[in-house]
Amino acid sequence: MLCSRIRTAVSARLDGEGLPPGITTEQLAAHLEACAACRLWETRARQLTEHIARLREADTTPTPGGEAPRRPRQAL
Ligand SMILES: [Zn+2]
Repeated sequence: MLCSRIRTAVSARLDGEGLPPGITTEQLAAHLEACAACRLWETRARQLTEHIARLREADTTPTPGGEAPRRPRQAL
């Protein structure tokens, strides 16, 4: 099993998507157990996903003072 395929599967799982065809949860777990590089990659990918989720939460929080966040004007 190629590391690149495992990382695609890890990424899909973190995004709440299903595993890509041809990869089972068991294969994924077995590879992560055997491959330190992919374990490290998964840890970083998870941290990044959580970081982005926090940024999104912060973005939807109303700004103090009632000033609406500026949005770029749409081109006509
Ligand atoms: Zn690997």
